[in-house]
Amino acid sequence: MRIDVLGVGFDNITMDQAVAEGIRLINTPGAHYVVTPNPEIVEICRENQEVRDVVNGADLVLADGIGVIYGAKMLGTPLKQRMPGIDFAQALMAAMARDGKKLFLLGAKPGYADEAAHRLGMRYPGLEIVGTHDGYFKEDGPVVEAIRDSGADVVFVCLGAPKQELWMAKNKEATGAHLLIGLGGCLDVFSGNVQRAPEVYQKLGLEWLHRLVKDPKRIGRMMKLPLFLVHVAGEKGKKK
Ligand code: UDP
Repeated sequence: MRIDVLGVGFDNITMDQAVAEGIRLINTPGAHYVVTPNPEIVEICRENQEVRDVVNGADLVLADGIGVIYGAKMLGTPLKQRMPGIDFAQALMAAMARDGKKLFLLGAKPGYADEAAHRLGMRYPGLEIVGTHDGYFKEDGPVVEAIRDSGADVVFVCLGAPKQELWMAKNKEATGAHLLIGLGGCLDVFSGNVQRAPEVYQKLGLEWLHRLVKDPKRIGRMMKLPLFLVHVAGEKGKKK
């Protein structure tokens, strides 16, 4: 069942259920994709119908940000669990390593995906990383071809939102992969170039604050969070 938050339908599931569903999709013929919207992406969806359709058309829509959890709660339809994309990716890689599934890493600055491949290979023995490509390319064709040639089952697409969502919807079939997952800045973290917030921030739902302190340029983007809460409050008013 999906829970609507300002026009985006979020899957109301636990992390274990999400990983099980991810594995099922990897083993299902055809191309599938997963999105992990935070309040910033929900706000983009409110303004851009194409992005909204692509996000709602995903096989799994996971609530990445604490703001989405608050929003759903304020609307009287709470979600079971927050589902940071990076946690989902890690749990899925552990399962893929057990099943011998193949992963392609796409996105981030040149060199980052290679560094991430090296580190992840050590962290998840059995996980086959069959290719990488940076996220600053002009034409999709050669990238799609590289993924297809690699025989990847899964692609982590880390191009930032909403570029990655649009890219997945457009190219998923041509890649030959069964599952594509939009994961924002995850390769920056997996490569070791960006530190994830300490666990205490994660537990308190303050990961966004840590990112802001480390990279104050994000303030413009983060102003979308209060806007999101204002819109949720407005929606709640309408429901009464
Ligand atoms: N990026 C990319 N190609 C682009 C624009 C961005 O590969 O044309 C990468 C960027 O280098 C970064 C990621 O996409 O690794 C976006 O990270 P951000 O922290 O903005 O994403 P979030 O996790 O907040 O969605």
